[in-house]
Amino acid sequence: MLIYLHVASTIVVRGLERYEAINSNDVAAKFQIAKRLPAESYENFEEMLKIHSKLKIEFRKILKEADASILKEPPAEYSFLHLKRDILLHMLKNCRFCERRCGVNRYEKFGFCRCSSLSYYSSEFLHFGEEPELIPSHTIFFNRCTFACVFCQNYDIVYSDDYIFDAREMARIVDIRRKHGSRNVNLVGGNPDQHSHKIIEMLIYVESNVPIVWNSNMYHSDELAEIIEDVVDVWLGDFKYGNDKCALKYSKAPNYWEVVTRNFLRAKDNGELLIRHLVMPNHVNCCTEKVVEWVSKNLGSDVRFNLMFQYYPTYKAFQYPEIARRLNDEEMKNSLFVAAKHLKNLV
Ligand code: SF4
Repeated sequence: MLIYLHVASTIVVRGLERYEAINSNDVAAKFQIAKRLPAESYENFEEMLKIHSKLKIEFRKILKEADASILKEPPAEYSFLHLKRDILLHMLKNCRFCERRCGVNRYEKFGFCRCSSLSYYSSEFLHFGEEPELIPSHTIFFNRCTFACVFCQNYDIVYSDDYIFDAREMARIVDIRRKHGSRNVNLVGGNPDQHSHKIIEMLIYVESNVPIVWNSNMYHSDELAEIIEDVVDVWLGDFKYGNDKCALKYSKAPNYWEVVTRNFLRAKDNGELLIRHLVMPNHVNCCTEKVVEWVSKNLGSDVRFNLMFQYYPTYKAFQYPEIARRLNDEEMKNSLFVAAKHLKNLV
């Protein structure tokens, strides 16, 4: 393990320099800065938002200038991070965490994702099956999702509530995993967005300087981005589809292209990016090509990009003959060709 960690710590991937600097303890993870920025507490939601916008400007200034010495300062009693948690607790009353914009009061009922104000997770462990720069990755698999993919490879996680997520207890585990060599906290599922209030609460208690990786479908709302982007160090964004028709058919996700491209552009300005794209059978032209071309043009050809070939039909995929098989050689070759043509930083 020690040898492995030594090797892993020497990996510096283009586009993930700040992530590496957190791991070398040269700079502070964003949430550690956020919890050192004092805030005022308000009952009124509008006032909370106003003070949040004001503090955001200050936070960005500190983020640009601060090195790891900020970690020597004690956290504020009530901080920018506490304010974020309290805003999210308010937002739960009329949930618009993701672009489904259900508008339900999650203290009383469920929206599309079937999450109340409580959160559940399925497992947490040091994951060695992620991209080389992420491993060992302390992966927390949340239950439930804001998508309903017919080929969901984690459907056992998504459609159940396993263990109640206790923010304080999970923070303690995060600190232990960090001591055991984790290079990040990787928030996934399912999807992390609908659990944002619990995640921010957990970060209030986390003591280690550890990078936060938001491993999501990038279908979050702009309102949620405004709050969470100041704690996300790396956006591990899943870019599934190249058009709205496929997104609606296989994930029941309306207005996909506009939402996801908007969110990737915003993420680029507010953190580092690692993009994943799962190539699907019969979807190289309509999805893979479109995704790769857009990414290269809008996020840069040197963005870190993982072209994934491990699709297999599962869950309800057998009801859709065109995706009811694995990829063939031709599809793998063609997608690799198009990715290599446009992108220079493939995993
Ligand atoms: S997180 Fe999204 S899907 Fe879940 S209730 Fe809120 S808006 Fe609906």
